[in-house]
Amino acid sequence: MRHSAEHVLHQAMEKLYPGLLAAMGPATAEGFYFDFDPRGQKISETDFPKIEAEMRQIIKADLPIVRREISFSEAQKLFKHNPYKLEWLNNIKKKGEKAIVYATGKDFIDLCAGPHVTSTGKIGPFKLLSIAGAYWHGDEKKPMLTRIYGTCFATQKELKHYLWQQEEAKKRDHRLLGQKLELFFISNAVGQGLPIILPKGATIIRIIQQYNRQLQESLGYQEIMTPHVGLKSLWQTSGHWQLYRELMYEPMKIENKDYLLKPMNCPFHILAYKHKTRSYKELPLKFAEYASVYRLEKSGELNGLLRVRGLMQDDAHIFCEEKDLKSVIWEVIDLCQTHYRHLGIKDYQMRLSLRDPQKKKKYLGDDQLWLLAEQALEKALKEKKINYYLAAGEAAFYGPKIDPIVKDSLGREWQIGTVQLDFMLPERFQLGYIDQSGKEKKPVLVHRAPLGSFERLLGILTEYYGGAFPLWLAPIQVRIIPIAERHLTFAKSLKTKLTNLRVDIDERNETMQKKIKEAEEQKIPYMLIIGDREVSQQKLAVRQRGEKNLGEMSVNQFFRRLKLEIEEKLVI
Ligand SMILES: [Zn+2]
Ligand SMILES: [Zn+2]
Repeated sequence: MRHSAEHVLHQAMEKLYPGLLAAMGPATAEGFYFDFDPRGQKISETDFPKIEAEMRQIIKADLPIVRREISFSEAQKLFKHNPYKLEWLNNIKKKGEKAIVYATGKDFIDLCAGPHVTSTGKIGPFKLLSIAGAYWHGDEKKPMLTRIYGTCFATQKELKHYLWQQEEAKKRDHRLLGQKLELFFISNAVGQGLPIILPKGATIIRIIQQYNRQLQESLGYQEIMTPHVGLKSLWQTSGHWQLYRELMYEPMKIENKDYLLKPMNCPFHILAYKHKTRSYKELPLKFAEYASVYRLEKSGELNGLLRVRGLMQDDAHIFCEEKDLKSVIWEVIDLCQTHYRHLGIKDYQMRLSLRDPQKKKKYLGDDQLWLLAEQALEKALKEKKINYYLAAGEAAFYGPKIDPIVKDSLGREWQIGTVQLDFMLPERFQLGYIDQSGKEKKPVLVHRAPLGSFERLLGILTEYYGGAFPLWLAPIQVRIIPIAERHLTFAKSLKTKLTNLRVDIDERNETMQKKIKEAEEQKIPYMLIIGDREVSQQKLAVRQRGEKNLGEMSVNQFFRRLKLEIEEKLVI
């Protein structure tokens, strides 16, 4: 139905803008889009009502949509004015496929593999959404085309719900909120995909790090520190150079040796393990690091903090005996779940990411080791009675993984952390340990990052909470709002009393209403309004984010309330 709606859009555009050249137009998971070369004609979102009206005419006419197979020469003749279609046609010919066209009524025909609904009347309620530039085949060297996005649903109700979700998503957009709340920025002066985290964003990350560090210390993790660059040979041994190359920055030559910026920490942690002879008594050995890594994501796929080229992970590598593998995996899954519970994330599912059996060349190791690793992870999930689903082709090149996928209130899915099992790198780096009977054995390696990257996590949490972070994470927890200058002394003494809280005072010469409005816009959890009454009675007038007036409290009552809310990591 969506693909058919796209054909109707195409048909309407050809009628309204004679001479435009259609390039392509597929259905997507949430709608459809249509790429075309406007050939100098100006088309913008203000034209959408006109285009939609034309589409409605075509749908109302209930024109039959009919599939036909035609010869190549016939197809070439049909599309001889359109170089984009001729290029498609050549590709189809090369692949040895048939030329298939779909005709809508008498006046419209397009090269298309389908399938489609049988007539335009069967297309449900639709809406054009936006217009953007898009490169032909997504290739920056190819010409820039114009793309119109739209969507279509079976019922008006579903369409309305979708449009509401889109509006909500816009309000929560972490790129806009990040600017408004001063969390981070990305500057062309630095380079694409390399964010600078501002004090408020850094506060959130620091608080999460402190919390993460505390949990990990209690589980026996040891922190190490490793460099940002290393010799290329290291990445050849690990296999990154061969299989992860497209995500790595170019080598830099120093004193005639090639160095690489690290895309992952694994080789360094592995060398730290190998630094001395290990005994079974030391295992599981857990090396952790808050480390920045660099990955050359495609410029078209960069997206605020969600997809960046420089990121800091809560990385760790666990070296263990094969017999302990299950308990190690369980401990890591527990750690993930504890994190998510405290971050207020309730709705998530585990994805078991496996090798793509069709593309074995993209991975290290043989079938037997992969089977062993995939089964071990699946067994750990099953025995712990954790719901999971399978995803072929999502594994790391050195092993399968468990990826927690979080769902937010708008139904959007985000991958946060990862737990990866690896039999390959211990082999390639020739790791060993002395077991109980004095024999040398190979350890198993678990790569894990329950939070993924702190940049991405900040982006996800910003969208998840729409910027209204829970108290324990809020960069400013309390704003004191003195009504007049004579209340400032009390406000300042109050600030010193609220130790261990992140408090600021709005000292500006503005009205109380304006100050409250701005504190609300900054999504600060608590406001203390200080006037004559509060000063004379030494009480607080407390407001909570979301225009909730909590009435009067003593300083001690207020302090206790916030302490509890922070300790329990409540989401209010
Ligand atoms: Zn089509
Ligand atoms: Zn690793």
